[in-house]
Amino acid sequence: MERIKMSTPLVEIDGDEMTRILWADIKRELLEPFVELKTEYYDLSLPERDKSGDQITVDAANAIKKYGVGVKCATITPNAQRMEEYKLHEMWKSPNGTIRAMLDGTVFRAPILVKGISPVVKNWKQPITIARHAYGDVYRATEMRVPQGKAELLFTDLDGKETRATVYNFECPGVLSAQYNKDSSIRSFARSCFQYALDTRQDLWFSSKDTIAKKYDGTFKSIFQEIYEADYKEKFEAAGITYFYTLIDDAVARIIRSKGGMIWACKNYDGDVMSDMVSTAFGSLAMMTSVLVSPDGNYEFEAAHGTVTRHYYRYLKGEQTSTNPMATIFAWTGALKKRGELDGLEELVRFGEKLEKAAIDTIEAGTVTKDLAALWEGETPATAVNTADFLAAIRRRLEQ
Ligand code: NAP
Ligand code: MG
Repeated sequence: MERIKMSTPLVEIDGDEMTRILWADIKRELLEPFVELKTEYYDLSLPERDKSGDQITVDAANAIKKYGVGVKCATITPNAQRMEEYKLHEMWKSPNGTIRAMLDGTVFRAPILVKGISPVVKNWKQPITIARHAYGDVYRATEMRVPQGKAELLFTDLDGKETRATVYNFECPGVLSAQYNKDSSIRSFARSCFQYALDTRQDLWFSSKDTIAKKYDGTFKSIFQEIYEADYKEKFEAAGITYFYTLIDDAVARIIRSKGGMIWACKNYDGDVMSDMVSTAFGSLAMMTSVLVSPDGNYEFEAAHGTVTRHYYRYLKGEQTSTNPMATIFAWTGALKKRGELDGLEELVRFGEKLEKAAIDTIEAGTVTKDLAALWEGETPATAVNTADFLAAIRRRLEQ
């Protein structure tokens, strides 16, 4: 059989632990037999990041900027225990954080739905994609615990002119927090959201609390509205999708009652909380995909889960694990489909679709990994298999 050819390299970013093992297995079993993979390879495993002084992470982000599409394996974000375990020179920052900052991108998280595993919210029939603005607000706030006294907000502009506002006259001890965000970051967030909604032909919802935070959240609301009207209104109408702004509490109520199938753009804190709620309600973290989209249209696909450390330690002892490769497979198919779309390679797009279908059909026919067996509600009982057998089952379907 003739393998599918690629024209532009895909930026391939390898990672750590169990997901690094899955990475190689997926390539060998499900990709290389069918596609003549053309990738530019960056090894972001923790030892390589340490060896290069984390330069490799910067290089990988630059490669995504150059080629437009990357696929990333989960990586360890070091903490004190990892410093010891890997004898690191420094506690390197999260690679995802570095790449996200360099691409100025927004992360979109969406579940993979299969028959036999139903969301806790029974009317959710389609995926709900959450876009979290991952900059500023409470995550970069300056906080104080204060005694009695007067709290003021003071702003000094470039000419030295001061603007003051009284926050509160404290008659007893209390707490203070000053938050900020930047128009430039909100703009990038809005653009990434509109762009991704168009790409995936889904409605876009954005929510905040502008009735209370009239200037702060009001700025978010008006930037979204302005960019929508200037650059996306016509495109949305042509694509038959809508942009919808509502208050965060109204959005929560509507989301619960909805069928799903929309992108929900959230401010930083709302996105942090709501993405955990939505992903738990859909079932398993192992079925959650993630894509980083930059405002100028670069894409990085990955699984939302981490390196599955506990399985890796069992693997090192020679045990067979039943680690779920779905989200990592979908990271690859997402990236290959996007590459195919950009390069006009119809066959590559179709391959991505077929691999996704083979993977979903495998589960729906009752061959599942252990994490899914626990959630299974299908009519006939499911068979829990190890990772190797699960991948082999997908391959058999793909070959058919
Ligand atoms: P994790 O790797 O997502 O795993 C947490 C638990 O969730 C696992 O122990 C496993 O439960 C279950 N799980 C997650 N993915 C699974 C899969 N594909 N198949 C089956 N079960 C799965 O999170 P973590 O243990 O908190 O973090 C481990 C490392 O990953 C850390 O070093 C962290 O820095 C890194 N991390 C990286 C990323 C990223 O690169 N995007 C994201 C998050 C975390 P059971 O053990 O009960 O089976
Ligand atoms: Mg969270």
